[in-house]
Amino acid sequence: MTDALTSVRIDAPVDEIRHWINGRAVPSLSGAHRVGTDPATGGPGADVALGTADDVDAAVRAACDAAWAWRKIASADRARILWDIGRLIRRDLDELVGLEIRDTGKPLESARAEVRGAAEYFEFYAGLVNLPAGDIIDVVPTQHVYTLREPYGVVGVITPWNLPINQAARAAAPALAASNVIVVKPAETTSRTTTALARLATEAGIPDGVFNVVLGKGSEAGSALVEHPLIRKLVFTGSVAVGQSIGRVAADRILPLTLELGGKSANIVFEDADLDFAATEAVRAFTTNAGQVCSSGTRLLVQRSIHDEFVRAVVDATERLRVGEDFGPLITRDQYETVLSYFDIAQGEGATLVTGGDRPTADTLEDGFYVNPTIYTQVDNSMRIAREEIFGPVLVVIPFDTEDEAIAIANDSDFGLVGGVWTEDLSRTLRVSEAIEAGQIYVNTWSTAAVQTPFGGQKASGYGREKGIEALNHYTQLKSVTISLGPSRAVQAVE
Ligand code: NAD
Repeated sequence: MTDALTSVRIDAPVDEIRHWINGRAVPSLSGAHRVGTDPATGGPGADVALGTADDVDAAVRAACDAAWAWRKIASADRARILWDIGRLIRRDLDELVGLEIRDTGKPLESARAEVRGAAEYFEFYAGLVNLPAGDIIDVVPTQHVYTLREPYGVVGVITPWNLPINQAARAAAPALAASNVIVVKPAETTSRTTTALARLATEAGIPDGVFNVVLGKGSEAGSALVEHPLIRKLVFTGSVAVGQSIGRVAADRILPLTLELGGKSANIVFEDADLDFAATEAVRAFTTNAGQVCSSGTRLLVQRSIHDEFVRAVVDATERLRVGEDFGPLITRDQYETVLSYFDIAQGEGATLVTGGDRPTADTLEDGFYVNPTIYTQVDNSMRIAREEIFGPVLVVIPFDTEDEAIAIANDSDFGLVGGVWTEDLSRTLRVSEAIEAGQIYVNTWSTAAVQTPFGGQKASGYGREKGIEALNHYTQLKSVTISLGPSRAVQAVE
């Protein structure tokens, strides 16, 4: 393990990001790599290895070789290693934050919170390594029946670029706690911290091969991982379109899949809410990470009686934000151009632009992929800007009159990730929280992303759950064992 670390430090300059396979940093077998783009300056970014099916095969085979030993390690040792990964993340917090900022252009505080969150995943799941346990089932006196919660074996994890180390940790920590071995494929634009995380896992004493990272494009390294015959479970976070294509492959192979996809979440503000706080949170809900968050609150549903006053408060708070300080750039030129194209779409659809709709003019932001936070009113829920996930700091405001109407608009969406409810009325809180079709509901707050709280989607936002104790159920498979304690007649029809 020391050799692996040494080889990274000596052989590879900091900015050459290589795969992490079998406990060491390695270049692509093909030698391919590519220099990315710094989203904050438009200049060169990291030089990242581009994996192919051969690199994926090497990583999956390393994981397979390590699987049984990892499964059989004493649970206290597994816990100690996971805890230590968390400790090392905290030790190297500044370095990891720096790497994350260089890949994404995030503001310091956001990057810090996300890296700390990554440590929390390992700390939380270190305490739960014994939890994936079975039951004893009382059937008849002549049989002893019990269940086991077993790891899948090799879990393939594919992550997006918006919260890189945090999302890698979100999957890695429970997968490893449940005794799986992993091969992670981060987004090609944000490889730095995921490989750093694997390096820290090695330093923490995780056996070689248990935590592997293969870098590269989704169409090559990603699809090779999905198609690898030795993968036993897939966890995908990303867009609906890629989730659907992975789902088709998984269906053919009967491969268990967790899908964490997009959202177009409704944030419903009733007239009795604490409007000052609701306005502040409504702004945070759509501008955090420049809107590049699956759980962004991008549809603001406002009761008509307070509509104008509330929109004014939201616009005022939005215009006080400092682009480049309160939130960073969009991740790539493509993403930037996509968001700009929605400004044209909004105009074509007849929405009223009340702020933003352009890019900042400050010299310091000139070459980065920045856009101003943007708000549209006079929006109908049938418009594309109300139905499609833009993944930028763009908010659409839709008025409503009654509670039933608000619920109908909120649910008139392909997505079902988050719903927000702002009211002081407890009965309404309970009614609306039950009625909204979403995996998460936030009442009088927005997206307080605790590692202990299960997270996942309904409808096109995906299925399966990450985070919390619940995630462990999605990283284990159930086996029942029936032991005869002596001669007995069958008690049930054979299945
Ligand atoms: P994306 O789907 O383009 O890419 C996600 C990952 O999939 C990347 O690592 C990419 O390389 C890989 N990939 C792409 N094509 C692939 C293929 N054919 N086979 C295998 N892997 C492939 O998504 P993105 O643009 O990186 O991320 C933005 C999307 O992610 C948004 O829709 C957002 O809502 C969603 N997201 C969801 C959550 C959640 O928890 N629900 C969290 C963050 C982001």
